Amino acid sequence: MITDEKKTELQKIADEIKNFKDLSIAKNATNAVPGEGNPDAQIMFIGEAPGYNEDMQGRPFVGQAGMLLEKTLLEVLGLKREDVYITNIVKFRPPDNRDPFDNEIAACADWLDRQIKIISPKIIVTLGRFSMAKFIPGVTISQIHGISRYYQLVRQAHHPEQGRGISTMNYKLIIFPMYHPAAALRGTTMLNAFKDDFVKLKNLLHPTAFIEEKDSDPIQKSLF
Ligand code: URA
Repeated sequence: MITDEKKTELQKIADEIKNFKDLSIAKNATNAVPGEGNPDAQIMFIGEAPGYNEDMQGRPFVGQAGMLLEKTLLEVLGLKREDVYITNIVKFRPPDNRDPFDNEIAACADWLDRQIKIISPKIIVTLGRFSMAKFIPGVTISQIHGISRYYQLVRQAHHPEQGRGISTMNYKLIIFPMYHPAAALRGTTMLNAFKDDFVKLKNLLHPTAFIEEKDSDPIQKSLF
């Protein structure tokens, strides 16, 4: 899919989310928060659910947790928030920032799946346990944060012009679980873990940096 098609499809999803009123959190939201960013992003960040600031602005991660995410993204990866795609498991703010309910996660799941398929990122970074549990159930975040794993996604493709209906194709991406930035704001240990995981993410995104260093070894030796 070319970038403009992706933008159109993402906008359709955003419009569906904004018009949805079948959950009380959707009815009570000041603004729905569909997600935003680069449709061709290599990295997609998936958080939990909008908080107060996100609900007010209709944009994900614009409060304190978002500021930490943005700052670390720039410092460690040299990326701006417009370079990546940022969204949440649940697209409406739960009251008093309570944990999202299962039925709320389920109601928003199809929108998220479609966003992932359209963007087709190389890496999905899950922020916090709710987002992690979508891809890696039955584990605790303290055990597996900062450890990447492959994830197989089945994508449906339409080929009407070829006389075929819907075919499926396999799409492999990397899931990289991280602590939620709000947790990282609560203490130094978590903050350090959050930053360390970002450095690992950098290595995942640019694996050649390590290889280049190894290659320089023999050349140096031959000079002396
Ligand atoms: N926390 C989240 O999980 N998502 C947001 O968008 C903001 C805070």
